[in-house]
Amino acid sequence: LFAGDSEFVKGVVAMSGLPEADRIEVCFAGRSNVGKSSLINAVTGRKGLARASNTPGRTQEINFFTQGPELYLVDLPGYGFANAPLKIVEKWQKLLKQYLSGRQTLRRAFVLIDSRHGVKPVDDEIMSLLDSSAVTFQCVMTKADKVKAKDRDRILSQVRQALSKHPAAYPEIILTSSEKGDGIPTLRSIIANLE
Ligand code: GDP
Repeated sequence: LFAGDSEFVKGVVAMSGLPEADRIEVCFAGRSNVGKSSLINAVTGRKGLARASNTPGRTQEINFFTQGPELYLVDLPGYGFANAPLKIVEKWQKLLKQYLSGRQTLRRAFVLIDSRHGVKPVDDEIMSLLDSSAVTFQCVMTKADKVKAKDRDRILSQVRQALSKHPAAYPEIILTSSEKGDGIPTLRSIIANLE
């Protein structure tokens, strides 16, 4: 499944803009600045493919990337902007809900969690949305190179605790560093083995 090159297809702001659901897809969600663009770039091996969506104006876009002929990687907009206008947040939530509940070919969501910060209330909200949309999700810890082993273990047990409350959570947590490359082959092979 995980073969070939990755290309940007389109940024979608409404359900009508979604590409045809003619291949398997996985999506990536996470608070802004969690390291989502860096992770997508590391997984695809293409620097600069996904751009950091660091402005609230870009929060509504769902970005589609092909990965070889059989797979879409879907970059969901970063959430948790402290100062995003309410209207934008509401519009984004509506699109996200529609996408998650209506996409037949979506096999798994990866919820990115900063290894230093653990699960925050907004992450918990996204997980609940995934539960109610019946989309299996898996946690990917980002920036693992930034934490000491002791802190990492404490954060990991906090994450496990949070996951235990979500029926759609897949128990295995993936530790990654886009900077060092740790966990990237694991993530690729998990995606490659989805059916
Ligand atoms: P996004 O807003 O979630 O797309 O986050 P970015 O991918 O733009 O990353 C946010 C910041 O974290 C940037 O300064 C990245 O260089 C940094 N970053 C991302 N991943 C890693 C990582 O694995 N290790 C370290 N040390 N920094 C990272």
